[in-house]
Amino acid sequence: MGRPFSCRLGWHKWVGRSTSDGGRFKQCSRCDKVDDRSKLPPGAAGF
Ligand SMILES: [Zn+2]
Repeated sequence: MGRPFSCRLGWHKWVGRSTSDGGRFKQCSRCDKVDDRSKLPPGAAGF
């Protein structure tokens, strides 16, 4: 599959990302998997 060993175990290296329209999500910096649970609508960041 080509994914790093730690990612196959589910140990992703999540990094915070934001979309051009203001959405926020987490993405693994190793395998580029997106954490669907972290997706929030714009403006819902809790500030
Ligand atoms: Zn990963």
